[in-house]
Amino acid sequence: MDKIIVLIGAPGAGKGTQARLLQERKGIPQISTGDIFREMKTLDTPLAKEVQQIMASGKLVSDNVTYRIVRDRTSRSDINGTYVLDGYPRTAIQAEQLEELAREQGKDIQAIEIDVPRDELFRRLTGRRTCPVCGEIYNIYSKPTKSDNVCDLQPDTQLSHRSDDNEESVRTRLETYETSTAPLIEYFDRTGRLEKIDGTGEVEDIYKQLETLV
Ligand SMILES: [Zn+2]
Repeated sequence: MDKIIVLIGAPGAGKGTQARLLQERKGIPQISTGDIFREMKTLDTPLAKEVQQIMASGKLVSDNVTYRIVRDRTSRSDINGTYVLDGYPRTAIQAEQLEELAREQGKDIQAIEIDVPRDELFRRLTGRRTCPVCGEIYNIYSKPTKSDNVCDLQPDTQLSHRSDDNEESVRTRLETYETSTAPLIEYFDRTGRLEKIDGTGEVEDIYKQLETLV
């Protein structure tokens, strides 16, 4: 049976990377809500116009509207089998709505959590440094430069540190994630659809675990 694969992972857990690999190597389309919302800003459909109005008014897009957006996107002809959802559902209520979509599309839901301990996420996010010239990404803990804070590729270039990668905002982002996602994980666990993979190793090792599940 075809599936809706729901990837769950904290900021820094590597969810986007793994979803892209599934798409490249297994041809499983990846539907990211970030991409859908960006696309909605440019489309000229009744639903897109409704979303544009909501966003222009500064209101939050409701669960019902988000559901219709996901339903609309996943009903297009480029999706005719299993697909991966990235960024949806975010809450237990959205997860219940997804059940309805899965029934309608005749698919099973499989939730896969990419599990990374909080201190590891903290290092990944706060240690990140980027070269403003070539875009190379370093990490002071896991991928340091040869000389302190200078790009290996442009020896005269100081690396930059994004302001939302500072310790305070990373801590807040991770806490917000944990609080809002806990009920979602609990929901999938309780309904017997949750699987967990270890997200601490190399990208390829994580992918191998993922590949055996899908
Ligand atoms: Zn560089």
